[in-house]
Amino acid sequence: MRADRKKDFPLLRDNSIVYLDTAATSQKPECVLKAESEFYEKYNANPFRGIHELGEMATEKYEEARQTVQEFIHAKEPEEIVFVRNATEALNLVAYSLGSEILKPGDEILVSIMEHHSNLLPWQQAAKRTGAKVVYLECTQDGHFTEEAFQKAISDHTKIVAMTHVSNVLGCKNDLKTFAKIAHEHGAVFVADGAQSVPHMSVDVQDLDVDFLSFSGHKMFAPMGIGVLYGKRALLEKMPPFLCGGEMIDSVTREGAVWAEVPHKFEAGTVNAAGACALAEAIRYIEKIGFDTVEETESRLTKLAMEGMKQIHGVHVVGSPKAEDHHGIITFTLDGVHPHDVASILDADHIAVRAGHHCAQPLLKHLGISSATRLSLGIYNDEEDIHAFLKSLAEIRRQMGYAE
Ligand code: PMP
Repeated sequence: MRADRKKDFPLLRDNSIVYLDTAATSQKPECVLKAESEFYEKYNANPFRGIHELGEMATEKYEEARQTVQEFIHAKEPEEIVFVRNATEALNLVAYSLGSEILKPGDEILVSIMEHHSNLLPWQQAAKRTGAKVVYLECTQDGHFTEEAFQKAISDHTKIVAMTHVSNVLGCKNDLKTFAKIAHEHGAVFVADGAQSVPHMSVDVQDLDVDFLSFSGHKMFAPMGIGVLYGKRALLEKMPPFLCGGEMIDSVTREGAVWAEVPHKFEAGTVNAAGACALAEAIRYIEKIGFDTVEETESRLTKLAMEGMKQIHGVHVVGSPKAEDHHGIITFTLDGVHPHDVASILDADHIAVRAGHHCAQPLLKHLGISSATRLSLGIYNDEEDIHAFLKSLAEIRRQMGYAE
């Protein structure tokens, strides 16, 4: 049976494409597209600038969106929500700003080997700027960090720990609560990347007790160009700005400036207010469905896909063999066929997946592969999508001339 949910998504309505690339970017429901255009149709003015009714409405809508995000991730106050362009910008902001504030020569930044380049390169650069050193936390082949390995890798030189919540390659979920607690016992700041978790499960930043969390709107039904950095207020207050310019100051003289209060100190220039309103609508869309349904659907389809893949000769799932460890992301290789060819052949059957190094080259090297194909799920996927994928996948080796 086709999922009714596809009707909400203009691009998926006619079932002409099997979209299995949500980890790269999600499709957008009609309500979100409308919310974005509604901002421009009804409230368009530059927030924080206009001393006119329209400007005030624009500001109000933007700040309402901030509050929606705050409640969604259970942050203590709206001031802890900084709007940025995407997870990448959020992580660069922390690495640059926090890095320049607290790192000095000899300090260590403990980065998990599982990170997307977005939560790795900014730390390498911060280390270069400050004389600190990047230390890697290794994972097991099935994508697990043991507490023992973490305890061994962290030291009193560790000032920052960077770890993803859900891996964009392995699909595994890391126990942020336990690792954040250990990091804090060593006086380190814990920076979590929520790009692949926030869209798919309930995330409570206070319960996890992470100091920072980044995510992108476009992976959770919102438009491209709006993302979030959550940060504990005390830390945000002590950090210098990342970008300087309009609306992030209290006052400016020839000699310098007094910065605006958080979060505005970190939102220089004209903001993406329409994107923020659309993100708030995307959150309402997710909440209407409910994370119980999201998780049930995605885990059922993950199980179906993995069981089917096991039956296909030459398929090897990267990471854990258990479906429950995958959180809607399954990366795999196919014997004798390059991952790009796998993706191209699937594409000929109108099935969209991603192939390559998934912006996680150190992880792939650690796992002993150079590239792989990934399917990733969203709430709009259904059994028919998985059956179409399995049918097409089962034919690939034969099409390439192998006997089975
Ligand atoms: N972190 C993870 C785990 C991701 O999967 C991605 C996107 N693939 C990012 C960060 C970066 O997201 P964006 O490109 O939206 O900045």
